[in-house]
Amino acid sequence: MEEYNFQTKAVREGANETEEQEHSAAIFLTSSYRFKSAEQAADRFANKQKGNVYSRFTNPTVEAFQKKLAALEGAEKCHATASGMSAIFATIMTLLKPGEHMIASRCMFGTTIVLLNTIIKKFDIQITFVDLKDLDAWEKSVQKNTKLFLLETPSNPLGEIVDIEKLAAISKKNNIALAVDNCVMTPALQKPLALGADLVIHSATKYIDGQGRCLAGAVAGSGLLIDEISSFTRSTGPTLSAFNAWIVLKGLETLKIRMDAHCKSAMKLAIWLDDQSFIKKVHYIGLESHPHHSIAKKQQTDFGGIVSFEVNGNREDAFRLINNTKMLSITANLGDTKTTITHPSSTTHVRLTDEEKKQSHISENLIRISVGLEDIDDIIADLKP
Ligand SMILES: *Cc1c(COP(=O)(O)O)cnc(C)c1O
Repeated sequence: MEEYNFQTKAVREGANETEEQEHSAAIFLTSSYRFKSAEQAADRFANKQKGNVYSRFTNPTVEAFQKKLAALEGAEKCHATASGMSAIFATIMTLLKPGEHMIASRCMFGTTIVLLNTIIKKFDIQITFVDLKDLDAWEKSVQKNTKLFLLETPSNPLGEIVDIEKLAAISKKNNIALAVDNCVMTPALQKPLALGADLVIHSATKYIDGQGRCLAGAVAGSGLLIDEISSFTRSTGPTLSAFNAWIVLKGLETLKIRMDAHCKSAMKLAIWLDDQSFIKKVHYIGLESHPHHSIAKKQQTDFGGIVSFEVNGNREDAFRLINNTKMLSITANLGDTKTTITHPSSTTHVRLTDEEKKQSHISENLIRISVGLEDIDDIIADLKP
């Protein structure tokens, strides 16, 4: 389906119909598969014949999701996992051995930072954290044994951005894999592989499902790397369930249409907030005043659904604004049809030390909104003091 445009691939790619010719993808809720004969079983186990053996290895519903997401990211292959975290974990464990080194952005999803600082460190893997946007810092931190650059761009909640093409030039020169967590943008707005990244990581729990129903994750990239990552999950177990694969598969069909609506409303909200006297500062990459607006314009097709802002005052003032809302959901999740509001310093980033919060600009008066699909006028009305 190479010749089709994004939205057509989103709807049509990955179809895997059975003899029933079902029009909507079937859910294969089965742990294992029967063989026609002992010989066929032997051939399947010996990898002489393609086909399903056990759903920890392959499952048709999961494969349909993998095919669709690979097509949308422009990847050779994609491997689905039980959650975004297991996608990140599988990637790191596949690419690094004890004694090796990776460089990670300081501004990443809270649990990613916890994973790196606790579990990954136990495997004697060295990690250097750098300022996402500082290309010199990435380059200067490279060691002989560096195997991976890991980052999210734009960062959440402040929308800091690194120029993926420029960073990919540094990683390629040094033979280092570049992995971009594309959860906040999705392939509807940004295609890291086309910009030179080696792997794209997803928490499909967010915009790809888009309706807050399940956890799912994925990694996409070259066939070689993805095969290695899938043999890791095949043996360790965090593969995606058929039921959750079906949910996120359906989510992909409407991803671009939802993202366009999220972006449109987020822009309206950012412009409105920017004009309010009770707001000190708005962080939305779509605003020309955002320091990374021009790089965003270069490597993204739009600016996404996350809007953060600082209220005048301190934590109490931020809490008061959050508690004053009637419709918005006070939850740390993002990428839902429902607009969510959260105070990063006490929720998503609570495990950071005061110094780390300062470095990441997570202040006490900062609020993050993931703009949903309600009418934007109602969202704005809910935020009026
Ligand atoms: C939520 C999230 C994750 C983790 O994904 P889960 O599906 O919750 O495991 C990773 N990265 C980013 C940017 C996220 O927002």
